[in-house]
Parts: sequence; structure tokens; C-alpha cells
Amino acid sequence: MSECRYQYDVIVVGAGHAGTEAALAAARLGAKTALLTTNLDTVAQMSCNPAIGGIAKGQIVREIDAMGGVMGQAIDATGIQFRLLNRRKGPAMHSPRAQADKKAYQWWVKLAVEDQPNLDLCQEIVSDLVTETVDGKQRITGVSVHGGAIYAATRVVLTTGTFLAAIMHIGESKTPGGRGGEGTSSGISNALNRLGFRLDRFKTGTPARLNFNSIDFDKTELQPGDEDPQPFSYLTEKLTLEQMPCHITYTNEKVHDLIRANLHRAPMYSGQIDSRGPRYCPSIEDKVVRFADKDRHQLFLEPEGHNTREVYVNGISTSLPRDVQDEMFKLIPGLENAQIMRYGYAVEYDFCPPDQLWPSLQTKEVTGLYFAGQINGTTGYEEAAAQGLMAGINAALEGRGEEPLILGREQAYIGVLIDDLVTCGVDEPYRMFTSRAEHRLMLRQDNADRRLTPLANERGLITAQRWAAFSSKLEQIDSALETLSTTRHQGTLLSNILRRNDSTWEQVCELAPQLSGISDEASLQVTYDLRYEGYVARQQVEIERQKRLSYKRIPESFDFTRLTQMRTEAREKLGRVRPTTVAQAERISGITPSDIALLLVYLDGRM
Ligand code: FAD
Repeated sequence: MSECRYQYDVIVVGAGHAGTEAALAAARLGAKTALLTTNLDTVAQMSCNPAIGGIAKGQIVREIDAMGGVMGQAIDATGIQFRLLNRRKGPAMHSPRAQADKKAYQWWVKLAVEDQPNLDLCQEIVSDLVTETVDGKQRITGVSVHGGAIYAATRVVLTTGTFLAAIMHIGESKTPGGRGGEGTSSGISNALNRLGFRLDRFKTGTPARLNFNSIDFDKTELQPGDEDPQPFSYLTEKLTLEQMPCHITYTNEKVHDLIRANLHRAPMYSGQIDSRGPRYCPSIEDKVVRFADKDRHQLFLEPEGHNTREVYVNGISTSLPRDVQDEMFKLIPGLENAQIMRYGYAVEYDFCPPDQLWPSLQTKEVTGLYFAGQINGTTGYEEAAAQGLMAGINAALEGRGEEPLILGREQAYIGVLIDDLVTCGVDEPYRMFTSRAEHRLMLRQDNADRRLTPLANERGLITAQRWAAFSSKLEQIDSALETLSTTRHQGTLLSNILRRNDSTWEQVCELAPQLSGISDEASLQVTYDLRYEGYVARQQVEIERQKRLSYKRIPESFDFTRLTQMRTEAREKLGRVRPTTVAQAERISGITPSDIALLLVYLDGRM
């Protein structure tokens, strides 16, 4: 029987949040791309919470959108409740979040993939990675799939999420699988081991889903969305889907007593699971143990969409046995008679510690092979999508013989995310926080397009429609700043009036009516530009210092064992991470200024 063989420029494995963005980006850049995934009905499925965005994550979605990715448009088209979190804090903390109609979101992304020129979406289970060795270095040549066919490409992006050698736990029961109702993918773990990658294990968990009709909402608090919901995408003019409310209820001491009495049956406490989970997204059993003084925990009842009665119970992720989950809900106000449609569970899976990657997300071990998403030890749809976008872009750019696109920490949360991963690795599932970004005042959700759209445009990543909208906004900002810095009221420049926190845009418009034609988005930028000018200038000084070190590149082939004058520990750390710039070397934990001084001496050829 002859072997079936299909030829592509880029192959992406797994159509989750990372894989769909990766494949779309590569195809947009003109690479002939295949997106291979186990099941076409689970494209862009939300494994857990039916929501996009949130603190620091919302900023990432805006950045993905500013670079032509689809996550923002998908949630705008299918969102059922939008809220801008941290509204009362400063603009650096404003974080958009939206509940999704989960199935509608999936179909929207699937259609975007199907309609994308240069991109083939195929239902295939990838069972192995195919490589060759050239001059002693391994390079990828394709993947093989169940049934024996080969998909050949010199660039492969792996985005297999929680599915590598995955085991699901509900109490004492264990089932192979990366997500409820689905299987696992051990062939790829075996291939990665064979190719010399280090693998480690993490765990995560999800709560039960309940039937809406069985909940007594009179005993809960209503949580509506924003009255003036803001879209995620710079292209969305209006949100059209009918909005749905969420509800809030609480656990209580009786629930906590029940959990404490059954802790020995929880896989995390019985020793059945010994891998680490996301510290910032603890299970209810973790909360009861770690926050023993709290007499209640808040639970959000989040509808999963217009065409289903499933309700996601945010805040009660668990892997306790089914009988304990049954009893637990009977003790919670409003949920006494709730019918459990899916039980909560935990999943343990393999990931590849990300210090094995270059900042382009290409692996150091195998040329042409890229990793993105949860396979890199991250958690969250937004973190996954951001990495997917960058891996897809870089796989396509490399195929064209161009330099990779590496975002700086001062340019984007996406830059912070990838730099943290490849420089420091992970010791628990990594999620983004505003506190991880030292330049967060500059990395606001409102200015993502000004930071990133020009870069994306230079690489051919965005449409003419997006560029036109962006250019018109820049023109409005320039013209408003010109008016404000040349018009006076009672001797005071309008720019100085707007700088005052107690002034409003409407007030300056009354003094200079030509400003009233400026869009809301542009006027917000002008206001922030003026109010935060001083802070931004101070951050800029530090950024310039970092940039000078970034320009000092370390060749990929640099032999760190040559640094014989350096402390052994520092030399080993540098050799493991293999930083590509002196700035990156400086950020590796445990590397001191004197190590850097010595490194500079070697790089300058003075030793
Ligand atoms: P996924 O979305 O998992 O997509 C991977 C894709 O690869 C799937 O479509 C799969 O079918 C496909 N695939 C796998 N193996 C193969 C193969 N061999 N061949 C072809 N296709 C393959 N995140 C949070 O932010 N908060 C949470 O509370 C949270 N809880 C979670 C709870 C559970 C139980 C799970 C499973 C995940 C949870 N997550 C949570 C994580 C979130 O789901 C992931 O971070 C995100 O989906 C990762 O995106 P991804 O694209 O990397 O992988």
C-alpha cells in the first residue's frame, strides 16, 4: 500500500486557542499551512471557564487583536456578558472580560479557520514527529498521523494543550484523557522524550456544570454586565448578541466541614496526584485548607450560552469524589436541588519546561519545531492564544528567511509572557498578572494598537481595513494634541487643563468645539498621554538602558563553558537558558551584575 504524504510549509498540531491563532497567522503570512486536530467539533473549545479576558488577560486579548489575531473578534461576536474589571483603579489596571456563548465561540473560530486562504483544517490524530539529523543537529521534517499518513513540513508548531500523557481524576477514579469525554495523546510525549526534551507534569482542575432549570436563583445575588459594554476588538463597532446575567452564591461552614471530612479522598491530598497546580486558581479543597479562617467563598454561576442550560460554577473547581460533589451542592444556597450535568475533575498532563525554547518559541533541540500554549507550562486561553500567534508568525517568517518577531517587555504583555517563560522557566502553571510587567503603565489595554499594529503591519499581518482605521485614529490623536497645545483659556493651555484629574474631555470640548469630532477612543488616548506624560518619561529612561543591553547580542552558538572565570552556578544557568541578548542574561534569576560584567568582557573579545 502506498503511503499518503501531504506537503505543507507549516503544520500546526492541535486546534485549541494556541493552535488556531498559530495556523491563522502563518497562513496570513502566505505559508501553506495545515491545522491538524483530533476532533473538528472541539476547535477552540474552552476546557474550563466560558470566559475570555480578565485581569492582565484582557490586555493580552487586545494585543492579539492589535496584531491581527482573532480572539478579540470571536468574543465580541459571541460574548453574552461584558465587564471592564478594575474600573475604579488607574487605566493600567483596567481589564476587559466577557462571558462567552461557549459553542457559538467555537463555531465562530472554526469558520474563521475554514475561510482563511492558505489554510487546511483536518481531523487527524498526530502520533509521532518525524525528524532528520543534519550536521549533528536534529531538524523537523513532518508528523505522522493515526492510519499511517505523513504530513511533511520543515516547520511544525505543537499546541497540544493538556493532552500529553493526560490522566483525569475524580476522587479515587482515574481515566486517561486531557479533557472530559476526550482521550489522551501519548505518542507525542514519547516522541519528545526520544528527541531529548525534558518533560515535567502539572495538574489543573475544573468545577461541575449544573442545569440552569434546577437552580433556585431567588436565593442568589444578580450580577449584571456593564451598562455600556466595550468590545475587545479595535474592529468591532457594536456588540450585538443579547446579554445574559450571572448570579452569585457562597459556600458555608457546612460545606467546608464536608470537604475537610473527605480530604483523604481528594487526589491532591491522598497522594494520588503529586504534580503542581495553578496556585492562583485553587480548587475548593485547596481553599478550605489554605484559607481555613474564611467562613465562606464566593461562587459565580455563569451561563454557558443561549442554546444550552449548562451553568459553570466558577470558584468551586474540585477533584473530590462524585458522592462528595453531590452532597456539597445540597448545602449551598440556591443549589440545594441542582442537577449536576458534568462532575468536576482534575487533569494531570505532561508539559515541556519552556527554558528549552528560543524567544521565537522555536525549540533549541530540534530546528523548525515550535511549541505554544499549555505545552509550555502556561494556563489560560489568552496566554495560549498569544503564544500561538507568535509561534505561527515566527514559523512563517523563518520559512521566508526573515528575522523572527520578538516583542520586548516594554512593548507588550505578550513580550513579558514569552520572556518570562524562556528566561526563567516555570515551577507552577504560569498565568499573567499585571504585576509581572514592570512597564505596565505603558502596556494598557487601551493603547495596544498604538504599541503593536505598526509592527504587525510591517510584517503583512493585518488587513487594509484595520490599517485604515488605525491610521485615522492616529490622525485624530495628533490633531487633538495640536489643538490642545496651542489653544488657551484664560491664559492656560487646554493641554494643562486636561492634565488635571478633575477636568473632563467634555469640558475642553466646550472650550475648543473643533475637538468634539474626535472619537472616544482617540480622546481617551490624548487624555492618558497628557496625564501620564511624567511617569512614561521616567519609564522610558529605564527602557532605553535595557535596550542598550538588548542590542548586545549573544550568538546562538556561544559556548558558555568558555566563561571559566565565572562562578560555576552562573555559568551552568547561562548554558542552560542560552540567552540571546545581554539584557535577557541579566534577567535570569541568580545572575549578578558581576556575572554580566564578565560576560561583556568575553563578548567584546577582551578575554
Ligand atoms: P487546548 O485548548 O487544550 O487545545 C489543544 C488541542 O490539541 C485540542 O484541540 C486537542 O484535541 C488537540 N490535540 C491534542 N493532542 C493532539 C494530537 N496528538 N493530534 C492532534 N490534535 C491534538 N485555564 C484557565 O485559565 N483557568 C482555568 O481555570 C483552567 N482550568 C482548566 C481545567 C481543565 C480541566 C483543563 C483541561 C484546562 C483548564 N485551563 C484553565 C486551561 C485552558 O484550558 C488552557 O490553558 C488552554 O485551553 C490551553 O490552550 P491550548 O491551545 O494550549 O490547548
